Amino acid sequence: MAQLSRARGLVLRTQDHAETDRIAVLLTPNFGRLDLLAKGARRLDRASGAALDVLNLVDVIFYRRSGLALLRDVDLAGTFPNVRGDLKRLSCALAGLQWALALVPRWMADPNSYRNTLEFLSALERGGPPERLRIGYILRILSATGHQPHLDGCVQCGAQRDLTWSPARGGFLCTGCGGTGEVLAPKLVRTFQGMARLPLPALGRLQVEEPILKKMDELLHLFREVQLAR
Ligand SMILES: [Zn+2]
Repeated sequence: MAQLSRARGLVLRTQDHAETDRIAVLLTPNFGRLDLLAKGARRLDRASGAALDVLNLVDVIFYRRSGLALLRDVDLAGTFPNVRGDLKRLSCALAGLQWALALVPRWMADPNSYRNTLEFLSALERGGPPERLRIGYILRILSATGHQPHLDGCVQCGAQRDLTWSPARGGFLCTGCGGTGEVLAPKLVRTFQGMARLPLPALGRLQVEEPILKKMDELLHLFREVQLAR
């Protein structure tokens, strides 16, 4: 008999499976990413099906198996009504969760990623600035999963000026050390450093212009592509 386990987790994604089943992907502190097969969730058990909606916190009991774990029972433990009820917050939350989906491995305890993700959603729920929180969260989930970009000056010599973005080298790289491409505005560099340092709930106090946030988002996506290709 497969081993029976329990966990609390945040639903990151659900998808229909076969005729009546669903697959739910949870982020948990003790098992990292947990992919669960919910047999019959779409037909027989409406309560279970609804509890497995994205952005819900749930308590699950499941059988550990190779491949997909098999859900036995699910209870709703919490949700984020203000995030759900606001399109801007919701889209920021869902975009943030994509990073957890991409970065957190299966079956590996990862309490930091879990804690950071709940902190991000709680700050959004309390009305924090969505775009700043999303970028701040991305920096934290990269760090929690061992992909922290080097933001403290040039990765090679520590210089604070003439910095370019080098995902392959792990962060900022100055032109003197071989950095190529666009030299980043000092303001963008300082904003990156400030956002990585400040706790998420404090990001509301940081003044950041929209174009800078957009640029940071682009650079972080490039970084993720290169890091995940390794
Ligand atoms: Zn350098």
